[in-house]
Amino acid sequence: MINSGKRLTILIVQQEDYERQAMVSLLDKGKLKVLAARDGSEALTVMQHAEPDILVTDMVLDGINGIQLIDEARRFLPDIKVVVAYSPYSPRLLMQAVEVGVDGFVQLPADGRKLRRAVMRCVKDIAAARRMAEADYSLHRLLDFFPTPAVLMDGMRITYINRRLASFLGYDNHATMSEVDMGLEDFIVQVGDEPYDGDPAKWIHAIVNDPLDRDHVLHIENPRHPDGKPNVFSVTFNQFPGSDLRLFTFQDVSVLEDELAHLEDEASTDPLTKALNRRSFLRILGQSAAMGEPFALVMFDIDHFKSINDTYGHDVGDAVLREIAQLVRDNIRENDILARWGGEEFMVLSPGSDKGRARQVAERLRCAVAGFQFTGVPRQVTSSFGATVHASGESGDAMVKRADMALYRAKETGRNKVIVE
Ligand code: GH3
Ligand code: MG
Ligand code: MG
Repeated sequence: MINSGKRLTILIVQQEDYERQAMVSLLDKGKLKVLAARDGSEALTVMQHAEPDILVTDMVLDGINGIQLIDEARRFLPDIKVVVAYSPYSPRLLMQAVEVGVDGFVQLPADGRKLRRAVMRCVKDIAAARRMAEADYSLHRLLDFFPTPAVLMDGMRITYINRRLASFLGYDNHATMSEVDMGLEDFIVQVGDEPYDGDPAKWIHAIVNDPLDRDHVLHIENPRHPDGKPNVFSVTFNQFPGSDLRLFTFQDVSVLEDELAHLEDEASTDPLTKALNRRSFLRILGQSAAMGEPFALVMFDIDHFKSINDTYGHDVGDAVLREIAQLVRDNIRENDILARWGGEEFMVLSPGSDKGRARQVAERLRCAVAGFQFTGVPRQVTSSFGATVHASGESGDAMVKRADMALYRAKETGRNKVIVE
């Protein structure tokens, strides 16, 4: 674990009494805690209870030699830094030390400056590693507070699964998952419309390298309902600037997905536009509001639609309604839901969207409508938009009222515009 507050401990192993004492006194002034042992077996005993951070050992020792001691030390303390003290008269042992790979060398008899420099290099490495570990630890703790399932990824490798996602998968946390060698890939059953083949890089690649930056959907097995259908998550990611770290967040859209599957059900759609009808929409809105996940509502109304009917006929008006519904479907994400609220009024429910995103959605639709050449209408057709986001705990009705107010203001202040409340 992390023990950045702990004073670093150094163990000096040297069988010559004079040399050992000299080395101890060279290092024993400052922040380091300095321990000493006269041979390998004494060193191992000291290590058991003191767990030193740095080992400075002679290669020539009675009994257990320097190489064996380094081996033992690393088995027991994998992160230990090792500095080898060598005599120029034993080049063979020195070669062995090079082969096992150590963090520094000092020639005997030890020169104070060189010894301290070798040790300080180890201290710096340890401090850097601890800073990294601390940063990771804080980030992981933070992700555990996330109400949304999330995964931290370094390149193509998952480095952390937050508590929310681990617990969905049936584990306490990432550590307990790793202990039994389970990864997120063991639970993914489908990536978009494709069955998943277990290749870890595949789903990440599909999302990260999508040139169209589309919405991505993963079907993830829910171990609590092994016989049931997998849950459907909408996945988005953010890249940490200047690094390969990415944060993936998962939004459970199973409820919406189920509803979408029922879209073919005629009872739930409007026959003219094939958009969801008001009744079905209200049901989804109610479920979304109850779920507590963020989402936005964009309400819009065609401007001066009555005059389109009056000027070009009711059939042309109908065609405009049909075309506008298709135009909207072409310009929203897969998980966004379009409904005909009534007459020439429509609603879009956009899961996961905040105010900024809601404005974007509305603006995009506004431009699409204003720039479209509708069949049989030689002039520009525009529409006005009111958008809002779900406030925690509020009902769908309250949200609709706010969107309606925003739409009213858009009409009042000139039409063909977006107001976000
Ligand atoms: P505003 O910019 O203020 O919204 O003006 P508007 O003319 O669009 O609004 P108004 O509410 O006065 O008119 C809406 C019209 O929409 C009246 C109605 O006849 C027409 N309408 C409603 N449903 C349909 C439909 O299914 N087909 C056709 N062709 N027209 C419809
Ligand atoms: Mg209108
Ligand atoms: Mg209207």
